[in-house]
Order: sequence, then C-alpha cells, then structure tokens
Amino acid sequence: MRTVARAGWVRRAISVAGGPPRVCWDEGVRSRWRVKPGERVRLADIDPGSTAGAPGGRTETSAALPALHVALADLQDRLWAESRRSLLVVLQAMDAGGKDGTIKHVFQGVNPQATRVTSFKQPDAEELKHDFLWRVHRAAPAAGEIGIFNRSHYEDVLAVRVHHLVPDRVWKARFELIEWFERQLVHGGTTLVKLFLHISREEQRRRLEERLTRPDKRWKFRHSDVEERSHWDQYRVAYEDALTRTSAAHAPWYVVPADHKWYRNWVVSRILVKTLGRMDPKYPQPMEDLPATIE
Ligand code: ATP
Ligand code: MG
Repeated sequence: MRTVARAGWVRRAISVAGGPPRVCWDEGVRSRWRVKPGERVRLADIDPGSTAGAPGGRTETSAALPALHVALADLQDRLWAESRRSLLVVLQAMDAGGKDGTIKHVFQGVNPQATRVTSFKQPDAEELKHDFLWRVHRAAPAAGEIGIFNRSHYEDVLAVRVHHLVPDRVWKARFELIEWFERQLVHGGTTLVKLFLHISREEQRRRLEERLTRPDKRWKFRHSDVEERSHWDQYRVAYEDALTRTSAAHAPWYVVPADHKWYRNWVVSRILVKTLGRMDPKYPQPMEDLPATIE
C-alpha cells in the first residue's frame, strides 16, 4: 500500500514537472566507488561505514532521495517508451548485505510492468543440466526493461568456489566466459551496472541477530546464513578476485559501502540515475499522424 501510494506520488511529480526532473549532483560518488578496469580490489581498504560525498547525515541524505526516485522513474518511462535498449542491475552481497532492502527502497516508484526482478538461488535439477549461464541469459532484460538480478551468474565464481562445488579449473574458466557473456549483452543493447553491497562482518552479525529478535524479520532467518558467515574470509577473497577480474568499461563493478542503509540507497540511486541519464533514452516519435483534436 505504501509503495503504491508513493509510486502515485512520483508519477504525479513527473507529470507536473513536464520535462526530466533536474537532480543536482557531481560525478564524484559514481567514480569514487567504481572499480577501475585492471585495478586490484582490496576490500579491507574500503570502509563499509563510509558516507563519503553524502549531502549530510541520515536525515539530509534521506531527504535527497525523493528527487532521485522521480528522476529514476522519469528515465525508466523514457526507456520503456523508446523500447530499444535495456538496463541490467546486478546485485551481489554477503548474506544480510541488503540486496532485498536496496530493491525495495531504490526502485519504489518505478513502473513494475517495465521492471523484471530475478532472484538466483541454488540451481535446481534442470538448471544443473545446462551450462551456468543458461538460466541467467533467459532472465536478461528485454528492450525497454530494467532487469534486476538479486544474486547472479557471479555465484558461480563465489558460492561455487567457496564450497568447492566444481573443480578449480571449471570456476576459473568462468571469468572469461562471464566477460564474453556480458559483452554479448552489451552488444545487444543492454547497459550493465554491477553493485557489490559492502558490509562489515560486525554489521552482518547485527543484522542476522535482528532476524532472531525482530518479529518482522524472523521469517528471513536461515541456519545456512550463519553457516555461510563462517566462510567470511573465503568469500572476501572470492569477491576480491571476481571484482578485480570482471570490472570492465562495458560492465563496471561498484563497491557500495552498505553498513548505513541510507547511504547505500542514496549511492545506488545516484549511480542508476547517472547511468540511465547517460543512456539518454528518448520518447519515440508518434507512429501515426496526430489529429488536431479528438471529436
Ligand atoms: P537473503 O539475503 O534474504 O538471505 P538470499 O539471496 O541469501 O536472501 P537464500 O535463499 O537465503 O537467498 O540463499 C540463496 C542461496 O543460493 C545463497 O546461499 C547463494 O549463494 C546460493 N546460490 C545462488 N546461486 C548459486 C549457484 N549458481 N550455485 C550455488 N549456490 C548458489
Ligand atoms: Mg541468505
């Protein structure tokens, strides 16, 4: 209900504004957290509690969000109308890293019809009979859509590596396969944004504990999350390798400090608005001659 009401508010704001809403900002936040191609990522050097570049604390930064929601909704409307290109947002994080919360908060106000969210769990029996990209390619966004991957093909060089689900040579070969797969998507008109939500081990403990104590969070608790936590260091190494090996100009990774949810939402929103803004989707010309009036 809340989302619907907010979505309505965003739509009204757009129609009142008429043109694309102006969002005041600099390139700083986006380039600050982007993994430059060839750069070796060391997560220990990136503070998960950082709020660098934010307009202020929680209150001021959260107050900047509605304008970004309006801008995102407006750009999505154009992308959908143009129907030639698509955006794919890949979300990865340790357990309790905030993937679900990011989707809920950042994409409020976007048109559900033009948005496709896919959550990748452990592959089922049928998926395991195919190559690892089979299920992923099927979920890629069509022209006009924003696709959101809640986990992704990167699990095949993360969870699969940490749990030794395939021989080393198999997951090692996947970095190159992923690069070519993503090139193929780009060639087909998709823009990729890959986001690693970076939380500290302490913040993960706090959030998993919250899943024990808060009645509205208990449903999320999984013993497997606690088991996965014991592999924190192996996941860190696997993430560092994946981010280092696969951040490319055509498919950049961003490491988003995510201990503060309000900062995470603001950074992700800015990255998406900037990326879509650069794509500059346009309303197409009418398909037919327009009559002067309707009788
Ligand atoms: P939450 O953050 O709410 O816990 P989640 O994304 O962790 O959500 P779960 O159902 O708890 O969802 O976990 C999905 C699990 O599936 C993860 O542990 C992930 O590593 C695993 N997974 C996803 N893709 C693959 C894959 N290709 N191979 C092996 N495991 C995978
Ligand atoms: Mg989980």
